[in-house]
Amino acid sequence: MIHEILAVGPLQCNCSVIGDEATREAMVIDPGDDIEDVLALVRKHHLEVKQIVITHAHIDHVGGAMKLRAATGAPILLNQNDYALLKMLDMQAAWIGVAPPGKVEIDHSLNQADTLKAGSLTASVLQTPGHTEGSICLYFPAEKKLIAGDTLFAGSIGRTDLPGGDFDKIIDSLHEKVLALPDDTVVVPGHGPLTTIGEERESNPFLK
Ligand SMILES: [Zn+2]
Repeated sequence: MIHEILAVGPLQCNCSVIGDEATREAMVIDPGDDIEDVLALVRKHHLEVKQIVITHAHIDHVGGAMKLRAATGAPILLNQNDYALLKMLDMQAAWIGVAPPGKVEIDHSLNQADTLKAGSLTASVLQTPGHTEGSICLYFPAEKKLIAGDTLFAGSIGRTDLPGGDFDKIIDSLHEKVLALPDDTVVVPGHGPLTTIGEERESNPFLK
């Protein structure tokens, strides 16, 4: 598995470029910004981007999606429960003081237990509402890797005070879907350092 993690934009969203070493097929997760840098990684590994996956419709995760789609032709995938948030990108841009990215079009909705492929790599979709209504995580069972979006961080969890956020739902999502994964699963949060399910199960104050 090729896996590059690039912190993009002013909020340093962790954008993942994941590719199959044999077929060079790839997916990009959360291309929030700095698309030229994302494309440089794609070229460096001679990858062909087949899917653009958005963990949730916050601007720091989705802001560069249209630019990446224009450059690669890959479809943009997001759970439909975040389509309403996607219509508020101009407002989100104003909150954090960045230029509005323009309209983002979604090609397909992603739902619980959907399977995404890049060559021989397989990821399943976990629907994890709470940080936003349409938040998802992507789990690669063979590699024991979770792309967690803003649902789980090292030592913390996603905020739920923004529109569409719900604290009870994120706690349910974490216990029912995320903590159901093996302890040695590596977690790539939407921001900040990597962690593991075991580490968070042990020490995350929100999961006691
Ligand atoms: Zn977010």
